Amino acid sequence: MNYNTIIVGAGIAGATAARILAEEGNQKVLVIERRNHIGGNCYDELDDYGILIHTYGPHIFHTGEESVREFLSRFTDWYDFGHEVVAKVADQLIPVPFNLNTLHMVYEKEKADRLEQKLIAEYGEGSRVPIMKLRENEDPDVREIAEYVYQNVFLRYTMKQWGQKPEEISPEVTGRVPVVISYDNRYFKDKYQSVPIDGFTPMFEKMLDHPNIEVRLNTDCLDVLSFEDRKIYFEGEEFTGNVIYTGAIDELFHLRFGRLPYRSLDFKFEHLDQDSFQGHSVVNYTVSEDFTRITEFKFLTGQKNTNGTTIVREYPFAYTGAKNEIPYYAILNEDNEKLYGKYKTMTEEFGNFHLLGRLAEYKYYNIDAMTLKAMELARTLL
Ligand code: FAD
Ligand code: UDP
Repeated sequence: MNYNTIIVGAGIAGATAARILAEEGNQKVLVIERRNHIGGNCYDELDDYGILIHTYGPHIFHTGEESVREFLSRFTDWYDFGHEVVAKVADQLIPVPFNLNTLHMVYEKEKADRLEQKLIAEYGEGSRVPIMKLRENEDPDVREIAEYVYQNVFLRYTMKQWGQKPEEISPEVTGRVPVVISYDNRYFKDKYQSVPIDGFTPMFEKMLDHPNIEVRLNTDCLDVLSFEDRKIYFEGEEFTGNVIYTGAIDELFHLRFGRLPYRSLDFKFEHLDQDSFQGHSVVNYTVSEDFTRITEFKFLTGQKNTNGTTIVREYPFAYTGAKNEIPYYAILNEDNEKLYGKYKTMTEEFGNFHLLGRLAEYKYYNIDAMTLKAMELARTLL
């Protein structure tokens, strides 16, 4: 095949771009993936006990964007559900995001009723208030709630996840889980909340199953692509088509300006010979334990008639670049943005090189935003 476009990475960014280019532009597309499977971090598989697990942590597809839902629905049907999370605080399981149900669990009725009225008067029914914003309110009642939520939901979880306090990290991050002034227990507000009915991996298989798409697994792009004199070479020959890169940008340039900081996760899976472990898909450990959360997969995937149950605990740590580590989360701050900018500038000398994805753009993308971005980029390259 004479390729029009080379895409590095078979995650949602790479797979979406590949499909659009192949289908709408009739382009010959090569997808290079260094892992032994497609799907990137959305990958799922059956474990040794026949239970569908998310190998790189729990993934729920949630979106309000019709075009994204429509596009992905061509490759899968959905198991739809309202995703709910609880936090273990002392011996209670309280709904997160903290909402009016949580308020009534935490305070006795009379006080909860009063606080509820106060929150509605201050912010309006149905509003979603970031914890860092709630903490700025000077009303003593609101401050009391803010302090409770800060101490019991955010402080220790964030310390585990980021190694920093909530006030030290980007407000964009804690703002993902606001205080919700309603009785809605769902973790996300989006219209669609689902997982692919047969799993993410079959959805990716269908996306990439097109006569114009070739996928090469177990191939690191650093072994086949090189960059010299403002030109891109593929297997030693100049490549003048487009390259879409979805990997980490610092790796591409051999850490020339130093490593971009990331947080990583150690996933510890456990199979238990019992019907259910926690009765919830996700329990956040916001005040105790070294891990941040436990996911029990059967409650996430809707899988029925399993033998026992499989859970995973997530232990965050600072990414060092060791071979077995994966950079999961960009650490958003000014210094890192600057460093990222240096690498990005280097890519700008190649007119045909495009950065796309959570790693390549050093951003905190959800699946739906990533799909949309990939659809948009691919369509500009048709
Ligand atoms: P990735 O999925 O990381 O794919 C990049 C691919 O590029 C990888 O397969 C990688 O192996 C490959 N690659 C990298 N470098 C090279 C190289 N040099 N050569 C060849 N291949 C290379 N989003 C949601 O919407 N809902 C959720 O519930 C959710 N949960 C999450 C939970 C966790 C623990 C994490 C970390 C993320 C979660 N996300 C969730 C975010 C979601 O994973 C991302 O939005 C999505 O995976 C980004 O897709 P991507 O294609 O940019 O990156
Ligand atoms: N967070 C928290 N406690 C919780 C849930 C979230 O402190 O119970 C904070 C934490 O800093 C986390 C951020 O909010 O990193 C975003 O949470 P989200 O669930 O969106 O993280 P993700 O699923 O992307 O890891």
